[in-house]
Amino acid sequence: MLLEIDGSMGEGGGQILRNAVSLSAVLLKPIKIKNIRVKRDNPGLRPQHLTAVKAVATLASAEVSGLSVGSLEIIFKPMKRLQGGSLKFDAGTAGSTTLMLQSLMPTMCFTSSPVSIELRGGTNNPLAPPIEYLQEVLLPVIEKMGGRFKIDLVKRGFYPRGGGVVRAQSTPVDVLKPIRLVDFKGVKKIHGLSYSCRLPGHIVERMAATAEKILRGEGYDVEISREALQQNDPKCSIDPGCGIILLAELNDGMILGVDKLGEKGVPAERIAEEASRELLEEIKREAPVDKHLGDQLVIWACLADGISEYRVTNLTKHTSTSLELCRLFTNSRIEVDGVEGRTAKIVIEGIGLRRS
Ligand code: ATP
Repeated sequence: MLLEIDGSMGEGGGQILRNAVSLSAVLLKPIKIKNIRVKRDNPGLRPQHLTAVKAVATLASAEVSGLSVGSLEIIFKPMKRLQGGSLKFDAGTAGSTTLMLQSLMPTMCFTSSPVSIELRGGTNNPLAPPIEYLQEVLLPVIEKMGGRFKIDLVKRGFYPRGGGVVRAQSTPVDVLKPIRLVDFKGVKKIHGLSYSCRLPGHIVERMAATAEKILRGEGYDVEISREALQQNDPKCSIDPGCGIILLAELNDGMILGVDKLGEKGVPAERIAEEASRELLEEIKREAPVDKHLGDQLVIWACLADGISEYRVTNLTKHTSTSLELCRLFTNSRIEVDGVEGRTAKIVIEGIGLRRS
């Protein structure tokens, strides 16, 4: 029987689709997702979503119908245990490689053999985790849970043409461990990266210097790396772009991440100032899990073997929606102590999915 998911529930965005397909593949549960991104200005599947579904379908040997750009409904039927192997997918645009990985990574843990995957698209996109966020914030927590990944940025990709390349390798696990991330242990130091491609070097310098000044002014130990790539560098993107990622390392090793992409017409100083103020706001809330990680951890906690508990700086609609979706799939016990927009504690009793 098909589990029917309403893609317009809660936040109503692409995250529902990505998580649903991922859960369908690992749990071998056929699904129908309707109303995909129906309330968005550009409703239905975008190239990023389409490529993510195709990639997960390949690992799950799934039969999929409705797979075309703009489609509002798909049926996804995983036919076999997840298979490993070497795969390549290209969004054909600046579709976010990190969002594709959000969907792929939980499935990559439970394959019969290792997976090596190359994704082409955007690596630093608006409204998506930049590749550095995935590597520096999400991955360390997944590793704590037992996940084994290697994720490399080969080439940056920005809007509009993308062309970025990310390689991800995984070694399967038998079961994921739950996590407990409740206490805020104070900030040890702040580090980060100010980066650009095909732009004058002073932009990176201005972003980094502004963030250092603001954050040092608040008494933090701050170190921001600079990376200004030009076209002769193989890692340089095909379109120009820039951004800054700031990482507050807590005394127990947890990391709160904030990032901002540069925008044409917006001074570099303003980008860095906004990122710095946002990081200070995250720190002020005294929780070890930032607002983006909060929604990204839900699916992992739901699959882990036992009770995960974590406290987020800000309970977002994305997080509430991911919790609701996981409940639909697994009937897990999920408790939330807090309200949207505020610090909240989340407790999820994972199902302890086993690879065999
Ligand atoms: P839609 O266009 O329908 O909103 P989408 O496919 O672009 O959908 P969302 O459903 O909005 O994506 O999900 C975005 C995901 O990216 C969420 O997991 C969110 O936490 C994450 N994300 C967004 N911005 C950032 C950021 N600046 N840093 C880290 N993660 C981010």
